[in-house]
Amino acid sequence: MLPLSKNLTPEKEATLKIHEYQAKELFKKYGIPVPKEKVCHNLDEVQKAAQEIGIPCVIKAQVMVGGRGKAGGIKIAKSQEQVKEFGQAILGMEIKGLEVKKVLVSEAVAIGSEAYLGIIVDRTQKQVVVMACKEGGVEIEEIARQRPEAINKVYADPVLGLLPHRARKVGLFLYSEPKVAFECASIAEKLYKLFIELDASLVEINPLVLDKSGKLVALDAKINFDDNGLYRHPDIEAMRDRSSEDENELLARERDLSYVRLNGNIGCVVNGAGLAMATMDLVKYYGAEPANFLDIGGSSSPQKVMNALEILLKDKNVKVIFFNIFGGITRCDDVANGILAAKEKLNIQQPIVARLTGTNEDKAMGILKEAGLIFASSMEQGAKKAIEVLKGV
Ligand code: GDP
Ligand code: MN
Repeated sequence: MLPLSKNLTPEKEATLKIHEYQAKELFKKYGIPVPKEKVCHNLDEVQKAAQEIGIPCVIKAQVMVGGRGKAGGIKIAKSQEQVKEFGQAILGMEIKGLEVKKVLVSEAVAIGSEAYLGIIVDRTQKQVVVMACKEGGVEIEEIARQRPEAINKVYADPVLGLLPHRARKVGLFLYSEPKVAFECASIAEKLYKLFIELDASLVEINPLVLDKSGKLVALDAKINFDDNGLYRHPDIEAMRDRSSEDENELLARERDLSYVRLNGNIGCVVNGAGLAMATMDLVKYYGAEPANFLDIGGSSSPQKVMNALEILLKDKNVKVIFFNIFGGITRCDDVANGILAAKEKLNIQQPIVARLTGTNEDKAMGILKEAGLIFASSMEQGAKKAIEVLKGV
């Protein structure tokens, strides 16, 4: 039996990510407590914001990666001089390849304890799950791998939502003091409401802080949205920060192609999301890694294939191209013409393995006869051949 699709983690799916400051604005709307803070674009704004908010304050780089603290992108300023010093240092610095263009100036919180609270879709359970962990501020993925028992999972009912007693279970897992536990339960309920109403695919408070005065506050915020739900939320779509998205994925969206970049070497060009997933599974099953998910869609035109190959080839890790086309509405001859045109125009050096079956496949074979492709008659064979070729290059 073939393995279930494991290529696309929630993180990698067609996702809109927003900055911490934007996520916190949404938290505020839902009544989730956040520190007083202000987003700034230059040193002048930083210094003004620090005066308003008060010293000490925290200056936080707004880039969409975790571990900003470790990278020097989060600093507590204890004087106006330090505000200037840290503001200067953090604005414009580079964290994991991303330039810091904005910083958040935030009220410094006296931390009592840090916890983790997050919500995602658990696909195997087909339910939304609220995850809580007493160790906050650290990478939850690490804990999930090493000590999964440290993470408490509470499921939301698909119809009834996050029931109050389950929300209280979350609170009581994290905090023994009843008042704090119930406050936490209320935060979990609000977070769940946000998750559902905004079509999020992930929300995280890491850390959720119990401050020295006994109040809970979301010190960090992360929200990812399911791309497919965005048409319902133009205000969230408007939060998109193009400068921090994968250039290829943006280009693909403009061209009406679904493309997700992965880390392997076999570039896949497929029609239909299901077939694209199956193709990646096969590549993995036979021992290689796909370079991408790419769905060229149901209808086809040579131009669409050109567009797709152009995007695919920007990824220098692509060593072999594997076409897996099942022609229904998509016509194989359209695809074949696209391949020919692209080979010429884009000067494609990588070997192409093609499995083209269905509507007009004979025509397609005629068109590609002289094109130097490697043909396969089934997708299994195609995947195997692509891997063989990969080993040869
Ligand atoms: P990340 O490293 O990118 O996840 O950024 P976070 O916003 O989670 O901050 C990382 C760590 O910085 C937190 O876990 C805290 O320990 C610390 N930190 C952030 N804000 C404050 C604050 O207001 N006061 C104190 N004392 N520490 C803070
Ligand atoms: Mn964090």
